[in-house]
Amino acid sequence: MTVDLSQVVNNEGARVRFSGEADLSGCDALNFIEPVRVSGKVSNLGGDIEIAVSAQGLARLVCDRCLDEFEKSISVEFSERLVKEDAYANVNKDGRDDAIVFSGNLIDIDEILIENFIASLPIKTLCREDCKGLCGSCGKNLNEGECGCEKPADPRFDALDNLIL
Ligand SMILES: [Zn+2]
Ligand SMILES: [Zn+2]
Repeated sequence: MTVDLSQVVNNEGARVRFSGEADLSGCDALNFIEPVRVSGKVSNLGGDIEIAVSAQGLARLVCDRCLDEFEKSISVEFSERLVKEDAYANVNKDGRDDAIVFSGNLIDIDEILIENFIASLPIKTLCREDCKGLCGSCGKNLNEGECGCEKPADPRFDALDNLIL
């Protein structure tokens, strides 16, 4: 999805809203099932361009515990500082190299959308908070019911038994 900056780039104090859909289906790291809904604004703050974005998408994720696929609505809100390409050399001298460089009056925000979506995911992806996971012996998904395997003895209790004896 590209955002038009032409009305703010050379216009200090200008602020323009935008909205649309971003097709992130080419993203390998995150499997979006439908286009991501995006809205936000671009502002010229004393010559610096700031983009503030809020986006929501539906992704197909894999549970880390039971390995089942599930769909989850995920949303992000973030803002980034944008710097025009020809001003970039000066910016780097200031040590502000975290800015995103653009050329012309359009910026493609797909990449920063994906980065922010990935950063927003928890370290552990679970289909539900109390996912029971897979049986360690037979591999059955225990969310679908018990498998009938012997429960392996918990080694912590063995240690306790030994202490008592
Ligand atoms: Zn699960
Ligand atoms: Zn089992």
